[in-house]
Amino acid sequence: MPATILLVEDEPAIQELIAANLGRAGHHVVRAGDAETAQRIVREALPDLVLLDWMLPGASGIEFARRLRAEERTRGGPIIMLTARGEEQDKVTGLETGADDYITKPFSPRELVARIKAVLRRRAPQATEDAVELGGLRLDPATHRVTAGEQALALGPTEFRLLHFLMTHPERVHSRAQLLDQVWGDHVFVEERTVDVHIRRLRCALEPGAHDALIQTVRGSGYRFSTQPQQTAPAR
Ligand code: CA
Repeated sequence: MPATILLVEDEPAIQELIAANLGRAGHHVVRAGDAETAQRIVREALPDLVLLDWMLPGASGIEFARRLRAEERTRGGPIIMLTARGEEQDKVTGLETGADDYITKPFSPRELVARIKAVLRRRAPQATEDAVELGGLRLDPATHRVTAGEQALALGPTEFRLLHFLMTHPERVHSRAQLLDQVWGDHVFVEERTVDVHIRRLRCALEPGAHDALIQTVRGSGYRFSTQPQQTAPAR
């Protein structure tokens, strides 16, 4: 699952150079030359990360970053600011706006790719190709395989994405709506009970090694991947 990166950069030569490097690193790149275009793209589909130039025609990168942080839907997305300005105060302003990282031009493509990887690892691990091992399961996005010890488990593509998201965000309860956004993509109009159907299929696929207990139902809230035995509420 390559990460989708929204690149907001107004200088065509730099935009081209960055897009080529990100493409080579295996990312899917969507481009915008100004904040208004970027806004339209974000409204259509949320990227996994926004790479945002500071100086843009019209609204600045900082203004756009503030807008993203102000909205519930876009608040949690990782942002890396890109700028020719290297002054300490600019860096502070950039980070205060809520950017996860800040890169000063000129930078080497390798550095950029490495920084993107680090931010994705921290903020959107489900958008990386890193293998995840937890609770006796190993999920490898690069080979699209899930194994329990020596045993390979057969998962459908949706169950694979669902398990990937749950394993990269363990011990937390996710509502059906959150899972739909994260696994099916936001703006995809699917009924919430679809989640239940795929959770059921996922548990079936995990049953052979008795790993289905890792997928816990939290009544009234949603689902959670947990390596801790589920606590049942004491009877009153
Ligand atoms: Ca610029």
